Amino acid sequence: MTIAETKRNSSCLKIFLACALLSSPLFSSFASAACTHEYGQATYDDIREKFAGDEASGGSTYAKGARANGLHIYIDPTVEEIEETAKVSVHEYIHLLQQGYLNKELTEYSAPVGGEPIADTSIGNGARFQSINLCGVAEATVAAHLASLNAMPDAIKLFDHPTFVIFYSQTPGEGTGSCDASQTETFARTAFNIIYGENCPGMESTPMVWEANENHVFAEGEAEYWATNKYTGSYTSFDGPTYWTDKLADAKNYCNLPGNSNFYINSGSSQDVDEMKDKMQAAGVSPACSNNAIGELVYAYFIQLCLETDAGALNDDGMCNHESLRRVWKYAPTYGFDCAFFNQYGWTWGELVAKMYVEYQVDTSEVATNVPSLCLYDQTCSGEPKPCNRLPSYTKNEAENFCQLPIDAACGSSSSSSSSLSSSSSSPTKMYSFANVVISAVIAASVTFYFAFFLN
Ligand SMILES: [Zn+2]
Repeated sequence: MTIAETKRNSSCLKIFLACALLSSPLFSSFASAACTHEYGQATYDDIREKFAGDEASGGSTYAKGARANGLHIYIDPTVEEIEETAKVSVHEYIHLLQQGYLNKELTEYSAPVGGEPIADTSIGNGARFQSINLCGVAEATVAAHLASLNAMPDAIKLFDHPTFVIFYSQTPGEGTGSCDASQTETFARTAFNIIYGENCPGMESTPMVWEANENHVFAEGEAEYWATNKYTGSYTSFDGPTYWTDKLADAKNYCNLPGNSNFYINSGSSQDVDEMKDKMQAAGVSPACSNNAIGELVYAYFIQLCLETDAGALNDDGMCNHESLRRVWKYAPTYGFDCAFFNQYGWTWGELVAKMYVEYQVDTSEVATNVPSLCLYDQTCSGEPKPCNRLPSYTKNEAENFCQLPIDAACGSSSSSSSSLSSSSSSPTKMYSFANVVISAVIAASVTFYFAFFLN
């Protein structure tokens, strides 16, 4: 998209809003939302909180089945590093890809030349990347964000629907929203309807567990690494690789590495990371040792290990390129993240983590099989989400024997899973021997389900 098109799009949105405000019948239709199901409401509430400045951080809102998706970008009007802020849009877009795979909406690793064609070009201006700028963010900033997204390789333009970047203005230096507070509801409803449609066609009605099968530290590390080191085609004044290197140095300081004996990321899940942060902060570690910082440290070590194994690991055909990680996300909801990871890289998750503990002087005696695996959730079962089954860690030999097999998680409890295995050979749910071994041996972890699905 050209800058001219960007401006035109933004102008259209402003006109659209003005019409909404000037015409009371139309305004009423915005106020009484037709999309009232649980998922639609949760999505709307997220946008409204963003406009209200209640949660003033960048993010993405993935809504399965929806006709489009949204990114949330806060802009301090005094910021001069526009391209550095544009990097955030690329980061957040990578989170959309992760969720697309984890929810089995995306099935291809790589899009064709030109990107996956947009199925319905009547949404907004029909472009793949569009803007919603209701709070008067500078047009140059809007243009830079759309340019950064458009400059990404076609291979990762995998969605057949548009992605809207919602711009929120920010109180200079304070990080809180500064859009007109009296307009919060109107802005939120306008943005929601532009993206999802008033009746949110296609959007699933029940929120999924966004963290299901998501290795949270890898998700954060991946998004920042690729946004700063590789998807930099539109950056001219922003040096992404140097930014990444500097950020890692800061992260080590924040997280007291090397030598922080509480830096146990365990499975890499959001829950495990939160528990680790609680312990670290109780021990005096800075809150700046955030999910993002932790994810970047873990992913940086992964990249280091890849390059020690294969100097060309990050090349287009290298073992640790971005496409290989997209394959991991694709198979994670079926095989479980850890098997998907092992199948792609040949290391168990535990091996990677134990080596990282040595590198960062967290623990030099940890063994790979002590590192817990992620939960395997089944999102294909109807009704309420099922409790997570945390899989036991396996040795490399076990992984070699079992991870090659497809696994479809069973609905229901581990006991009902076990009972269904006797007929596994003819079962339409393809229960294989590894599932028998693993699921019958589950640790019945008690898990809090978060009906939020917004990554920062
Ligand atoms: Zn993120």
